[in-house]
Amino acid sequence: MADNRKAELTALLEKQRAAFTAARPEPLDVRRDRIERAMALLKEHGEELCRAMSADFGNRSPHQSMITDIAGTVGFGRYCLKHLGQWSKSEKRKVQFPLGLLGAKAELRYEPKGVIGILAPWNFPVNLSFGPLMQVFAAGNRAMIKPSEFTERTSELMAELVAKRFDEAECAVVNGGPEVAHAFSELPFDHLVFTGSTATGRKVMEAAAKNLVPVTLELGGKSPVFLGKNADLKKAGERIALGKMMNAGQICLAPDYLYVPEEDEEGAVAAVQLGVHEMYPKLLDNEDYASVVSDRHFDRLKGLVSDAREKGAEVIEVNPGEEDFGSSNARKMPLTILRNVTDDMAAMQEEIFGPVLPVKTYKAIDEAIEYVNAHDRPLGLYYFGEDSGEREKVLTKTISGGVTVNDVVFHVSMEDLPFGGVGPSGMGSYHGIEGFREFSHARSVYTQPKIDIAKLGGFKPPYGAATAKAIKGMMK
Ligand code: NAD
Repeated sequence: MADNRKAELTALLEKQRAAFTAARPEPLDVRRDRIERAMALLKEHGEELCRAMSADFGNRSPHQSMITDIAGTVGFGRYCLKHLGQWSKSEKRKVQFPLGLLGAKAELRYEPKGVIGILAPWNFPVNLSFGPLMQVFAAGNRAMIKPSEFTERTSELMAELVAKRFDEAECAVVNGGPEVAHAFSELPFDHLVFTGSTATGRKVMEAAAKNLVPVTLELGGKSPVFLGKNADLKKAGERIALGKMMNAGQICLAPDYLYVPEEDEEGAVAAVQLGVHEMYPKLLDNEDYASVVSDRHFDRLKGLVSDAREKGAEVIEVNPGEEDFGSSNARKMPLTILRNVTDDMAAMQEEIFGPVLPVKTYKAIDEAIEYVNAHDRPLGLYYFGEDSGEREKVLTKTISGGVTVNDVVFHVSMEDLPFGGVGPSGMGSYHGIEGFREFSHARSVYTQPKIDIAKLGGFKPPYGAATAKAIKGMMK
């Protein structure tokens, strides 16, 4: 990458940091105003942004985009506006006896970190840029955003709109390919939030480590669905179909594979198929169903299916309108269910991130628990069933970023619940008060009383009887 691009990014960061430093302390109303401007931008240009997303994908329902990227993000901004006063309050902490009696005080202040970098992926390009931004602002920071190069029109439009509403010292969008993204991840930010794949997340953390930049990594993984014994198959099938078909499965939290009781396999597969049929009578000629974002991604997904077929999987294409996908260049792919999958299949090794759904079976639920525990800790985990003992067994014996019970994906839409992964599916989280704290520095402030505490406590040389007494007291 041209050195001057890196120099430009560095200059922008320095400009933001200088403005941040000069403006401190900023009243909370400045934060509120930034959030309100971000919300106004989304409200006024929501439809335009949805058109850009659809053009970038090939097709993506404007209704879906309004829900997932625009309205959901505006709602999250409103949630931040409502809570930021409470979140920002400093907390009184205890001091050890008898320091309190002597007038010592301890408090914890949540202070802004400074300039935060936001690196976003293509699958929800507006939500995953503006969502973190709302909390970055709530915590009093400035932001530089680098959206994905795969959604070029949307990224350009976001850059244009942000430049109109924000001084570049408050918030700026920078665009470019992987080289710009890499240079971005090398900047000495005060914090960096990355949303994307686990593989790129590793590179981002390595780059950030050079400057000891703290990171929030929102990554992916293979989120399993546990169908409990006696789960309501019809309900589960509908809900799994909704979560898997939305955005054509290109969701970090999409159910990656199903684990079903052996005796329910037929019924579960039929229920998912029925769910798809009910929501999508047709797929090719249906604006509600998204295209796969790029040729490369499309070929990768088709490769997962052919690899599974070659290795012995049964392949069920769910094609409700019996359309001819072969003759289309719309990059639309029907839901493809894989049965009899084995661990040597690529579909069971990498995050699917598209409309392919492997199904595994178990005799006892412990097998499914063991399988999940033997693999990377997933971002999401789903349990369907009404047996509370079984549910608790699944929840208490596994680890995942988050959980939805009796549905998939939905926990991310709870504004008050922190959202994040664990280990290979991510670190740190945002949403809820945890997001505000993630982008704040918790600064401890201790105030010493007038009296000479060091002398009183025996910490002051020359050491003697008071010291011995203090040590004895502490060792009790
Ligand atoms: P990606 O990792 O390819 O790209 C994400 C971002 O990283 C892009 O902006 C890209 O420009 C940038 N990037 C690319 N190479 C880079 C490098 N060497 N250094 C620094 N940055 C670089 O991910 P993607 O394909 O855009 O998105 C799909 C992945 O994101 C899936 O794995 C999905 O699970 C994950 N995801 C996670 C969440 C979450 O909240 N946990 C949400 C959405 C997507």
